[in-house]
Amino acid sequence: MRLLVVEDDTLLGDGIKAGLTQEGYAVDWVEDGEAAELALKTNQYELIVLDLGLPKKSGSEVLKNMRLQGNDMPVLILTARDTVVDRVKGLDNGADDYLTKPFDLVELAARIRALLRRRGGRSTPVIRHNRLEVDPAAHQVSVDGLVVDISPREFTILQLLLENRGKVLSRSRLEEGLYAWNDEVESNTVEVHIHHLRKKLGAELIRTIRGVGYIIDKV
Ligand code: CA
Repeated sequence: MRLLVVEDDTLLGDGIKAGLTQEGYAVDWVEDGEAAELALKTNQYELIVLDLGLPKKSGSEVLKNMRLQGNDMPVLILTARDTVVDRVKGLDNGADDYLTKPFDLVELAARIRALLRRRGGRSTPVIRHNRLEVDPAAHQVSVDGLVVDISPREFTILQLLLENRGKVLSRSRLEEGLYAWNDEVESNTVEVHIHHLRKKLGAELIRTIRGVGYIIDKV
């Protein structure tokens, strides 16, 4: 799952990036509104964490433009203390949630999970698919109630395919979810992860659509 963090406070931005990376997300971090718009144009993200007070272009403006362009990606805004007006404006501009600084990284991670869950159309935190159970909060996968050991990147691929059940996801789409800018992309890595997932979870779960990508069918 690839996320964009927009925050001009270096310490805070660095901390958020480190914290979310540890949670298993691929995180790109930019420090102003224009860089945010460029990143949104060139990459596919699952969610954006957006500070409102930014140099060059405000977070509110970035958000407004996103929604005007029909981009419906979940947006969590970060606001300074005592700025009720900003929060209300942010929500009115199309933000899905907000956090007031200072906040706890644990809470940020929980809110991100909740937004991604709602995005996937689920009200329960656990994803169920036939004999499979996937718990994004615990990063845990089980088959028939037995926990299966899978790596963070395998988890990301599985979660992306499950959140998009019935849709074919291309290899590059899955790759985008795995890597942030500074990560080195290994070749054939998606194929390797899919291979491992099939071995662990059953060969029939993920189907290859030749020349197009991969799909998990709706039940
Ligand atoms: Ca700021």
